Amino acid sequence: MPTLSIVAPLYNEEGNVAELVRRLRAAADGAPGIDGYEIVLVDDGSTDRTVELLRRHAAADPRLVIVRLSRNFGHQLAATAGLDVSRGDAVVLIDADLQDPPELIPAMVQRWLEGFDVVYAVRRKRKGESRFKIWTARLFYRTTQRLTKVAIPVDAGDFRLMSRRVVDALKVIRERHRFIRGLVSWVGFPQTAIEYDRDSRFSGESKYPVSKMLRFAIDGITSFSDVPLRFASYFGFIVSAIAFLVGIVEIGLRIFTGYNLPGYTSTIFAILFLGGVQLIGIGILGEYIGRIYEEIKGRPLYLLAGVERADPAPVGEGNSVPSVSPGTR
Ligand code: UDP
Ligand code: MG
Repeated sequence: MPTLSIVAPLYNEEGNVAELVRRLRAAADGAPGIDGYEIVLVDDGSTDRTVELLRRHAAADPRLVIVRLSRNFGHQLAATAGLDVSRGDAVVLIDADLQDPPELIPAMVQRWLEGFDVVYAVRRKRKGESRFKIWTARLFYRTTQRLTKVAIPVDAGDFRLMSRRVVDALKVIRERHRFIRGLVSWVGFPQTAIEYDRDSRFSGESKYPVSKMLRFAIDGITSFSDVPLRFASYFGFIVSAIAFLVGIVEIGLRIFTGYNLPGYTSTIFAILFLGGVQLIGIGILGEYIGRIYEEIKGRPLYLLAGVERADPAPVGEGNSVPSVSPGTR
């Protein structure tokens, strides 16, 4: 009988811990065809009482595994740490704020048993999120879809079930600007979607301010597309063609009519406009060079402060736990 892991990253989620554990447990208990499960809770360097509360719950339930990172590494890396430590035959990744309803897990497991390697949850509605967030999220999903060669599902977050072979594939991909949902699409294998309505947060506030959202969006696009790099060349061709035509017209006017335009407006416009375009081009180059620099340093993706689990033996067979040098290539 297969086993299940549920992985949730937590950053200052003290108000959600009790409810999260309660609902995850209920969901895992109700999952069909599952023989044993673990709940991997990753503390992403919380500064509130999250760890203390996690430990209190883990003391009463050996199926809870606590993964502590050495500091705050961010959502995607915390999730990666959880996936690395997880041992189940199928792994569900879920947010800790209960925006993703755990009650969907049995249905995900059902689809997995039917033979799908990835079951991702597509947001039909989003409750309790600002119009701004919904609108920017939509814009982001559509833009990435247009710019990337990998078909990344629209309106699907990281809430998904992955089979062991998909998680093992993710373990091999150690790029640091992680865009997990994109990587999962890249991996391939049979994938399917189920729809759900996204709830509002159970407690606390979003840990994704606009600046982090923007960073995340840039990571998503630059990780999966080199189209922006070509922006400067495409634009250069267009501007050169226009300049050539304008040049011919000007010369023609000068020769045949002797007319010469004193064009301050057009000159200053051309200078400012092209200056702006050049700066954008350099900025895009910088984005990619920065990523090359990050990758070349080869630092570990995250550092573990500890893995606390009741039983150190693997749940399933053949699933090694990367407890030495986690996150290294
Ligand atoms: N999170 C994390 N580290 C961070 C920021 C967020 O582990 O630096 C976790 C957070 O605790 C939550 C999940 O990532 O479980 C999603 O974050 P959040 O709900 O704040 O994002 P939103 O749903 O607003 O996009
Ligand atoms: Mg949330």
